[in-house]
Amino acid sequence: MKEILAEAVDLKKWFPVKRGFFSTIFSKKQMFVRAVDGISFKIAKREVFGLAGESGSGKTTTGRLMLKLIEPTAGDVYFEGKKITTLPEKDLKEMRRTMQIIFQDPYESLNPRMTISDIVEEPLSVLGIGSREEKEEKVSKTLEDVELMPAEEFLFRFPHELSGGQRQRVAVARALILDPKFIVADEPVSMLDVSIRAEVLKLMLDLVKNFNISLLYITHDLALARHMCDRLAIMYLGKIMEMAPTEKIVYEPLHPYTNALISVVPIPDPSSERTEVVIKGEIPSPINPPSGCRFHTRCPEYLGDICRTKEPAIIELKKEHYVACHKYTKK
Ligand code: SF4
Repeated sequence: MKEILAEAVDLKKWFPVKRGFFSTIFSKKQMFVRAVDGISFKIAKREVFGLAGESGSGKTTTGRLMLKLIEPTAGDVYFEGKKITTLPEKDLKEMRRTMQIIFQDPYESLNPRMTISDIVEEPLSVLGIGSREEKEEKVSKTLEDVELMPAEEFLFRFPHELSGGQRQRVAVARALILDPKFIVADEPVSMLDVSIRAEVLKLMLDLVKNFNISLLYITHDLALARHMCDRLAIMYLGKIMEMAPTEKIVYEPLHPYTNALISVVPIPDPSSERTEVVIKGEIPSPINPPSGCRFHTRCPEYLGDICRTKEPAIIELKKEHYVACHKYTKK
């Protein structure tokens, strides 16, 4: 594998459930939402690594853990070989410059009272980087990097004066202005019109390539993930079910859950005879996830007791292709 930039090792995040007065009287047992429940993966330099799955699978929490925006319950995150989960805040501050996030909603993530110039410049001002002229120059250049050109036409406008696609480009510029090495993009185009999604995604891919950035791309849309990502991890109820280079996930899915997700992704091949696999029911609550394999309550290939009682370990079944399913280990 290529040089590693970021790594999650057995990462867990359990959120305590707030309970009412009466339920605390009747039961002393603290309950937790097991948003992320023991996952490990590595992201190489200049790699686009995707986390995909239904909502409630733990993707967004994983993204925040990777940037140490929230503390893990257990496990570690490494960035450029340093364990950031135990790094003192003063050392982390410097590292944070190189790690950025792009949120899902460009309507919510930009302050409506600030001009585009102020929004993009803010990270430089907060960290005290550059003189006034240097900051102005950097803001203009970064706006042009995200194809908001000529920059002068955008500098003194407000977010409500821009289209959704232009606003998301501003959010990308804001993430880019500190010359990051690592960006977490959390469903960055899901709030945009379908017609402009492709443009924004292409821009992000170009930036990753041109500026040597690693991208953690979080999505529920496997059709988009397929075009964006070098490798993909499929999450379900806080666990990774399958992880492999994107082509292998798309054309040789091993896990029944991945197989079902992939079966509904349109492929541009009229001769393809893929049949749609229906997953029954809703994703269960992460407060009390199913025993054994978490997917067993919905699995079209359920194998009986072993699936209900024993959690399958994630194994490297083929080169760089990891899967957690008893189908491959049952003797
Ligand atoms: Fe389905 Fe069993 Fe595999 Fe889980 S372990 S995905 S329930 S076959």
